[in-house]
Amino acid sequence: MEGCVFCRIVAKEVQSKIAYEDEEVVAFHDVNPQAPVHILIVPRKHIPTLNDAVDEDQALLGKMMLVAQKLARELSVADSGYRLVLNTNRGAGQSVFHIHLHLLGGRLFHWPPG
Ligand code: 5GP
Ligand code: ZN
Repeated sequence: MEGCVFCRIVAKEVQSKIAYEDEEVVAFHDVNPQAPVHILIVPRKHIPTLNDAVDEDQALLGKMMLVAQKLARELSVADSGYRLVLNTNRGAGQSVFHIHLHLLGGRLFHWPPG
């Protein structure tokens, strides 16, 4: 999708620190980390918000969760704890309209979130 920064990262037109990639998803370090571990897991497919996902995206959405689990292990936060966040629309804090799962870890998190 033209003008989408995450499509441009996926296409390697915009530089990022990639942590994992395969034929369906790319994971890279957030440019403005909110925790010692802050990775964004994005599908190569441009889906603006979770509201736009359809039944055929079921496996892709599941894959994003399993990539997060694998990275959490690799980055040594699986046991201490990590948080997965998927902001949907502006009221929830979404600022980039290409779905992405935040993997946050390496510090203590509070509940409820702010
Ligand atoms: P959202 O607020 O949409 O849930 O999260 C968007 C995230 O993308 C933010 O945490 C922001 O720091 C990150 N981000 C925005 N633009 C870029 C970029 O060009 N590169 C990287 N690595 N992260 C970005
Ligand atoms: Zn996109």
